[in-house]
Formats: sequence, structure tokens, C-alpha cells
Amino acid sequence: LVSRDNHPQRSTVTVRGVPIGPDTVTLIAGPCAVETPRQTLEAALMAKAAGATLLRGGAYKPRTSPYAFQGLGEEGLRILADVREQTGLPIVTEVVDAHDVALVASYADMLQVGTRNAQNFALLQAVGAAGKPVMLKRGMTATIEEWLMAAEYVAQRGNLDIVLCERGIRTYEPATRNTLDVSAVPVVQRLSHLPVIVDPSHSGGRRDLVLPLSRAAIAAGADGLIVDVHPHPEQALCDGPQALVDGDLDDLAAVLRDFPPLLGRT
Ligand code: PEP
Repeated sequence: LVSRDNHPQRSTVTVRGVPIGPDTVTLIAGPCAVETPRQTLEAALMAKAAGATLLRGGAYKPRTSPYAFQGLGEEGLRILADVREQTGLPIVTEVVDAHDVALVASYADMLQVGTRNAQNFALLQAVGAAGKPVMLKRGMTATIEEWLMAAEYVAQRGNLDIVLCERGIRTYEPATRNTLDVSAVPVVQRLSHLPVIVDPSHSGGRRDLVLPLSRAAIAAGADGLIVDVHPHPEQALCDGPQALVDGDLDDLAAVLRDFPPLLGRT
């Protein structure tokens, strides 16, 4: 269902009127985690200033440590919905448990499945049946074939509004949190009609790498970026070191402006 063999034209997925696909480079930005109404609104305004048309933010956080901040749950979803009201930015947010899909879908405009759940087949089937566009991250140890098969689980439930997100894979290199597999962008675009975006924040895990990795992603033909921003990263409850701050926003906007959709991206 997701293969390009039976669907030669690359697809555009529309999230509450915002297109993600071959004709544009869509910026999704926002806080890694929803922490407070004020922090979420400030991050959303930063995202908008940088040119974002969709707001990211986790209310359910899949943390490596059970002692780390796990997210605000439904309270976080309510905050996101309020901030959508105030900024007009549709919401992309993660769901980590099949039992929460209906609840998260009642607030979200796009459901995110994260790297740690990328082969949680019950969750993939549940999001596939939820009637909302889905952003499927690549499992941190998943091959491209495994990633596409995960997408197939969503598609099989009748939902082809799937955006694939390359977010770095685990390699032997410890200098970065993960290794951005930039070659996955053109490889997957040849194999699948689905849009492919890149998360430079979770790939590198470092603020100073976000802009270079964003440029690399767009030069490779990515259909969009999903980027962490935070008004006060030193106080962030989750992934502060990779969040862009106010002073970075012009540079992020310039990445999008200076790299317009490239010819031949289809
Ligand atoms: C996220 O985007 O909030 C996240 C946890 O990303 P990943 O699943 O790629 O680690």
C-alpha cells in the first residue's frame, strides 16, 4: 500500500489544511514536551516566527528512564488545544499506548508514533484506525524495509495519510545522540510514495547540529522538518540541549527560505 510501485506519484498528506509533500518544505516545530501553558505558548510563537505551520509537543513522553518526566498526559493535550486556539497552529503529538489513541486523536490533528514504538504493531494498527494523519518515526535500529513495513501496518487499517520521519539511527558513533541517515530520504522517496521529513533535533541531540542537519535534510530532498524549540532550554524537563532558542529562529527561517523546494524532488 505504501510502495511506489502501485502509486508512482508521490503523495501529499494534509494536516488540517497544511500540506506535507513534494511541492513544499513544511516546518513542524515546538517544545519536545508540553510542560506549562506559558512554555507551550511561548514555544509555539517561536515556532510560528521561524515559519512553522504545525506545532509539535509531547503530552505522553516515551522516556528511556522511568524516573524522567513522563509528560502531562491529558492535561498536556488540553494545553496544546488551547495553544492551537491562540496561534492557529494545528497540533502534532505522540501517542505511546494503543489504549490512549482515541483520547489523543480527540485533541490532535496528527498522531505521532515515536522511534521506541515504531514496531509496536498493536499501536500502529490502532493509529491506522483513528482517522487522523500519522507521523511515523523510524525505529532507531530499524532498516528501511522494517520502517516501510511498519507504515504498511498503519495503511492496512485504511489510512494512507502517513508521513515518514527519519530521526537518526543508532550507530557506533557516540559524538552525536543518533546518526542522521540522510541517504534514507532519497532512498525511501524512491521506494514509497509517502512524504519523508527529518527530525534534526532528535538525530544529533545537540542544538549546534540542528541547522547543519536541517540544511542537509532539505538538500537531500526532505519534504519537511520537525524541530524542537524551547523558550528556556536550561529549564526544560526534556531534551533541553537540542532545543533551538529565540536567537536561532532567524537562522532556521533562513534554512527554509534559502533552500526552496528543489527541482526533481518528485
Ligand atoms: C519526540 O519527537 O518527541 C521523540 C521522542 O522523538 P523520537 O521518538 O524520535 O525519539
